[in-house]
Amino acid sequence: MTVFPISPYPLAQTPTPIQKLERLSRQLGGPDIWIKRDDYTGLGLGGNKVRKLEFLVAEALSRGADTLITAGPLQSNHCRQTAAAAAVAGLACILVIEDRVEGTSELYRTNGNLLLDRLFGARFHVLPGGADIATALDDVAQRTKHEGHVPYVIPVGASNPVGALGYVKAVDEIIRQSRELDVHFDHIVHATGSGGTQAGLTAGVELADAAFSIHGVNILDEPGGRIAERVRAIADTSIELTGRSLASVRRREVSVVDGYVGEAFGKPTAGMIEAVTRLGALEGVILDPVHTGKAMAGLIDLVSKKRFHAGETVLFIHTGGLPSVFAYAPLWSAEPIYS
Ligand SMILES: *Cc1c(COP(=O)(O)O)cnc(C)c1O
Repeated sequence: MTVFPISPYPLAQTPTPIQKLERLSRQLGGPDIWIKRDDYTGLGLGGNKVRKLEFLVAEALSRGADTLITAGPLQSNHCRQTAAAAAVAGLACILVIEDRVEGTSELYRTNGNLLLDRLFGARFHVLPGGADIATALDDVAQRTKHEGHVPYVIPVGASNPVGALGYVKAVDEIIRQSRELDVHFDHIVHATGSGGTQAGLTAGVELADAAFSIHGVNILDEPGGRIAERVRAIADTSIELTGRSLASVRRREVSVVDGYVGEAFGKPTAGMIEAVTRLGALEGVILDPVHTGKAMAGLIDLVSKKRFHAGETVLFIHTGGLPSVFAYAPLWSAEPIYS
């Protein structure tokens, strides 16, 4: 069993269910595809950041912090889950928002995650696209200190070695569920961005010497190789945080799959629209336009290219993002259902 350097602050509803995507598996005619419902982690409409925030909020409280500060784009799931976690833990929350996705609708600027941020009581600093976010986070933290508060800064995506412990813990959960379901998973596929989810999964698999391989589908504008380096660096420190040496684990190559982001981060692709529409109608699963929709488009394409094939079992981790469908509603509302 993994030893954690800090006890998680309880925020997530776990274990999240693992379900078989019967109809999708049959339609694609390749591997058996299962889904882990981390969109059901509960807090603030759920998602992968809740698992990371359990460890980050615990650290913030242990340091006497009274304010969480973090950053993300206007429709950041991470900002929304941080705002909800702050509310639950009795902390203030300041969000540094980078207005970076172009060509979006009015809903993108008012609805979805942003609406929920407001309901969770967060305050905002909005910066133009391309602004230096790390410096802005420092500035806001300094100002908060001068006002007599104790800030705790969470990096974009909650992706640092402490946050990644949430997914180290999730690996133990997946191993337990795999035994209970009597299903062996060959591959785990999920959307990867700031890298903390993949880092935690990688560290968890290496610590447990589990058999499944992890594939992160790149949904960012940066090359997968750079994400893989970040994943490796975070994973290594997470391993050390559990008290194990790097020499004591069998480290594996980090797989980040390129080719599915399309024109840019947050910009719709035909494959994403097809995947979101398909999973909704076929399985009653809501994917999001920015992360899980593109990751599922990648999985569907990789199955068609026989990268994953019949006889294998793939576990897709649904990392959440539900609220952003409301920000991208025009993609699905071209044809009114009334007349
Ligand atoms: C943040 C996020 C991801 C990416 O996770 P990282 O740990 O940042 O790589 C994937 N899916 C959704 C829905 C997210 O909000």
